[in-house]
Amino acid sequence: MSQTPSQQPERAGKERISPPKQQQSEPGLDLKMQPKADHGERSYHGRERLAGKRALITGGDSGIGAAVAIAFAREGAKVALAYLPSEEPDAQAVATVLEDAGVEVHHLPGDLRDHSYRDTLIDEAVTALGGLDILVNNAGKQISVESLLELSDEQVEETFDVNIFAMFTLSRAALQVLPAGGSIINTTSIQAFDPSDHLMDYAATKAAISNFTKSLASQAAQRGIRVNAVAPGPIWTPLQPSHGQPIEALPEFGHDTWLGRAGQPVEVAPAYVFLASDEASYVVGATVHVNGGKNQP
Ligand code: NAD
Ligand code: MG
Repeated sequence: MSQTPSQQPERAGKERISPPKQQQSEPGLDLKMQPKADHGERSYHGRERLAGKRALITGGDSGIGAAVAIAFAREGAKVALAYLPSEEPDAQAVATVLEDAGVEVHHLPGDLRDHSYRDTLIDEAVTALGGLDILVNNAGKQISVESLLELSDEQVEETFDVNIFAMFTLSRAALQVLPAGGSIINTTSIQAFDPSDHLMDYAATKAAISNFTKSLASQAAQRGIRVNAVAPGPIWTPLQPSHGQPIEALPEFGHDTWLGRAGQPVEVAPAYVFLASDEASYVVGATVHVNGGKNQP
């Protein structure tokens, strides 16, 4: 059963949520979401599956990236978070969770559309972490527009720039520093395979990411580096109430999955942990679907 906002806990768990209609400017902040998302702050327990590894996570301040950061750190990894400067409050909240557990967190804020930032991000991460074993290409922009007739070239270009063009830049640099046994994980989406017509530009970038993941996986495998993707379905993150969905769709967000509810970021993080870990040593060019049940390839 749906809950009214006043009945909702401070952070949602694995129950069905019906978020109240709400809107933030892009990029949204987890701090302003009702209800806040569950990144595993209290629930994720690590088992040293990433002990000693060093990871850069783009979009690591909130949503799926924040849950991945918490999970990676609790699995023994050192993490660096990349995010937009305006997201500093969310990045600080994640860092507080990690630093309370004695984990070292590095902050590398900047705008991936800015070439002077994205051209040097991998080197900055290597310097901060003392090397790099895992790159999580997770930053993403999603703006819902009802019709192609209202979709500007500027939005299309920005969405492609952040979602896929930056992946080329970061992955190229990462291939030069990742050791054999290193790993790149790209965040694609159910939208790559089953596009919503109001997310035309976004869905096209996700199809491109899925395709890019396979060709990059083939090249990188020759260096012993594994490249894979995670394809989330509807996950409750700041992307959604900051123009990622039509505002009237938020109360029923994710209710069309076979489980009948949206997922929480903490439910997606284990797929990244698996793909980053040595347990996935023979998993290459794969996509892990985490979507609560939807038709998928
Ligand atoms: P989110 O808003 O928490 O994360 C997206 C992050 O992208 C932001 O936190 C921001 O740091 C980063 N970003 C956006 N524009 C940027 C820019 N110009 N420069 C640098 N960083 C920028 O939302 P999320 O849902 O956790 O998104 C993470 C990834 O998951 C995205 O790639 C998104 O497309 C993907 N995804 C989300 C869902 C979902 O339902 N939430 C489903 C499938 C895929
Ligand atoms: Mg954010």
